[in-house]
Amino acid sequence: MRKKIAAANWKMNLGATEAQALITDIQALPHALKPHQEAVFAVPAPYLAMAVAAFKGKTGVGIAAQNCSDKASGAYTGEISVGMLTSIGVSHVVLGHSERREYFHEDNAWLAAKTDRVLSAGLTPIFCCGEPLSVREAGTQNDFVAQQLKDSLFHLTAEELLKTVIAYEPIWAIGTGKTASSEQAQEMHAFIRQTLGQQYGAETADQISILYGGSVKAANAVELFSQPDVDGGLVGGASLVATEFVAIINALP
Ligand code: PEP
Repeated sequence: MRKKIAAANWKMNLGATEAQALITDIQALPHALKPHQEAVFAVPAPYLAMAVAAFKGKTGVGIAAQNCSDKASGAYTGEISVGMLTSIGVSHVVLGHSERREYFHEDNAWLAAKTDRVLSAGLTPIFCCGEPLSVREAGTQNDFVAQQLKDSLFHLTAEELLKTVIAYEPIWAIGTGKTASSEQAQEMHAFIRQTLGQQYGAETADQISILYGGSVKAANAVELFSQPDVDGGLVGGASLVATEFVAIINALP
């Protein structure tokens, strides 16, 4: 069975006290992760070590960086290396979030290099893809997303791809309160799986977890996650509210 994942993306939010309190509140709420389920917390870099310590020994919980360098080490002021992340127990890295693509000019080729770097360190990339509104309105979203996958992931071996999580996040649905309908999500997830299948074979594609991101909340998670190719969610705003995020974890099939 494919891994079903609820991934929280805190973005650049919360002070240290609030971050600690959110983790404490989440831990206090009832949730039980089954063996095929995972909860991942992509917290701001200053809180990574704290989050790793807070969830130490908790099976099925991963801690993610929201970005990392494509370089191993050296004179890259302000950057964070995968070696630093593994040395403190981080397990995942979110790559290619649309905010990083838009504000920090990360392109498909750069994300291919970052993906390689993350995989080489034994970390799990959560690779984000998704189209802007103009592309959706033009009806060319499949071509757009396929190009992102081809440019950034198709150089990977099947073994490497199997260690990668994909998050489909239509940009028009991120932080807008406008969720893709479960049909729209399923349609794109099936297309992504089919595209991966053309390159790597259906058996490999069938094992890749594809998360949906874009205004996921407790109220729509069950419906979205019930789609056959939707393997959980990457959650921004709602992941900052303990009751919401725990309900989203509990909505995982
Ligand atoms: C995100 O940060 O990846 C995201 C999908 O945000 P939101 O859930 O707030 O739309």
